[in-house]
Amino acid sequence: MTSEKQPDVCVILKDGVEFLRQLRAFKWAVEIFGCENVAAGDLSLEELSELRRIGRDESRLAEYSQRHSPRLIGRAGETLARFYPDRPIEELAGDGLWRGSSEDGSCRTEFDPHQMWEIHIDPYANIQTCCGIIIGNLKEKPLLEWMKRGFHTDNELIRMVCERGPYAYLELAKERGFEPRRGYPQKCNLCWEVRKFLRPYFPNTFGPAEIYSI
Ligand code: SF4
Repeated sequence: MTSEKQPDVCVILKDGVEFLRQLRAFKWAVEIFGCENVAAGDLSLEELSELRRIGRDESRLAEYSQRHSPRLIGRAGETLARFYPDRPIEELAGDGLWRGSSEDGSCRTEFDPHQMWEIHIDPYANIQTCCGIIIGNLKEKPLLEWMKRGFHTDNELIRMVCERGPYAYLELAKERGFEPRRGYPQKCNLCWEVRKFLRPYFPNTFGPAEIYSI
């Protein structure tokens, strides 16, 4: 979730992830996959406790989150966006994605198997990226096949965001009555807010429900 190699801000959310679970999950992941395949901070109990203290202190949380700016989607979008000022929608197009900015406002890199940063498998076997955009399902074929042949860019909603970024979703949402604010802190936060609105219309692409009901 974070763009830098820093402790995941989710770990420090006030009412968020129980940090002992983080410790256990990290240990098991390293045992099973090897440390070279685990992209998470190797934090001690004391470091995790300190993060929890930060999470319980509003001003420290604001300061920490601004120093390790996450993509403001999902839980981070819900909980941390308030620490960032809104910027005019038209100025967000060149914002950084996980792999750097896209000059043309598109999100292509985040859907390209060779470049994308996030592949998230959920309990329904959905393959998601960008926290809640479903780009395939493991019941159809194994992940390696998806990686070889590409994800569901034949899905109109995925194609739209690949080519035009969240501005395409914004148009779709406005047609259905969405009233945007004048600005959002980040391009990804605009995307998140618009997707929340669109989810009931397109639950097979914007899902699963749990992601959007946090
Ligand atoms: S704007 Fe949306 S689709 Fe694009 S990288 Fe951000 S979260 Fe992903």
